[in-house]
Amino acid sequence: MCLLALCLPAAARADDSRTFFAMDTVMTVTVPGGSEALLSACEDEVRRLEALFSVTDESSEIARLNAEGRAVLSDETAALLGGALDAAALTDGALDVTLYPVVRAWGFTTGDYRVPDDGELAALLALVGWQQVTLEDGEASLPPGVMVDLGSVAKGFASDRLAALLRGSGVTSALIDLGGNIYCLGAKRNGSAWRIGVRDPDGSGEYIGVVAVTDKAVVTSGSYERFFVAKDGTVYGHIFDPATGRPAESGIVSATVIGPCGFQCDALTTALYVMGLERAEALLETLEGVDALLVDAEGELWATGGLRETFTPMGAYSAAAIHWIR
Ligand code: ADP
Ligand code: MG
Repeated sequence: MCLLALCLPAAARADDSRTFFAMDTVMTVTVPGGSEALLSACEDEVRRLEALFSVTDESSEIARLNAEGRAVLSDETAALLGGALDAAALTDGALDVTLYPVVRAWGFTTGDYRVPDDGELAALLALVGWQQVTLEDGEASLPPGVMVDLGSVAKGFASDRLAALLRGSGVTSALIDLGGNIYCLGAKRNGSAWRIGVRDPDGSGEYIGVVAVTDKAVVTSGSYERFFVAKDGTVYGHIFDPATGRPAESGIVSATVIGPCGFQCDALTTALYVMGLERAEALLETLEGVDALLVDAEGELWATGGLRETFTPMGAYSAAAIHWIR
């Protein structure tokens, strides 16, 4: 194996990047010229955060909060939960970290997929509502039966932490890909912007286009990433509408957000997907410093003005007319 590595051209040196499985997804951190120790530090950092936030790991802070209804949280878990509650307020509850009892009933955390009936959903929905979470001086508490899951924002938060870790180590160019939650640190080493492909939500594996970014996160949410097909052929995706307790069918099939904060982008992609075009447009009008690219069920593209210069549609979308939001 060492011999094989020696045969590789310098540009493809495998030790420039590290791929590992964490937070239920495949992650790759690429640091051109970076050391093995630095890549290990990145992997360790993600695993450390996962051990705090994981809803399925019984020893995590979040699992303890869910089991006991009350927990004193570390600064990081409190920051992430607090940020998620702020995002819930901003998105009028489209992002709601208390959806967990519903998501679990559909089998999305276990893989035992099923369609709960209306009575079961109504009972579970009574447990959903981000306003039920109390967070004060790092101590969180939940009413009986209420549970939180930070899965919709944890990868974006982790990408910010990795960017900070790498910057602190003097790194000026890196690509952090946490299962589609991408953070571009600086530019490529040749000075050109990172070019990030946005997948076609039709599941074909093709791209609708490329965004050119430096020092920004690029995050996409789409149900083509995780879904199950019921016996009757219905496809159920993993992003839920807190108003119904069912997979969101808002007319938006993919939402990409580009901005300086990975956490914010991760929270917004999930929320925009749930909100649908009208609500998404109204929210995006009020947000500065972030851009968004939405694909609707008809395959039409909707984008904010910052993408005029940086987004290049391609493939089946190369001639697509883009509806500009602002
Ligand atoms: P991914 O984890 O595929 O990147 P998201 O960031 O969009 O996707 O988060 C979706 C996950 O968050 C789901 O797997 C589910 O556990 C949870 N979730 C689903 N819908 C919501 C929602 N409306 N608000 C908060 N969390 C959600
Ligand atoms: Mg998200």
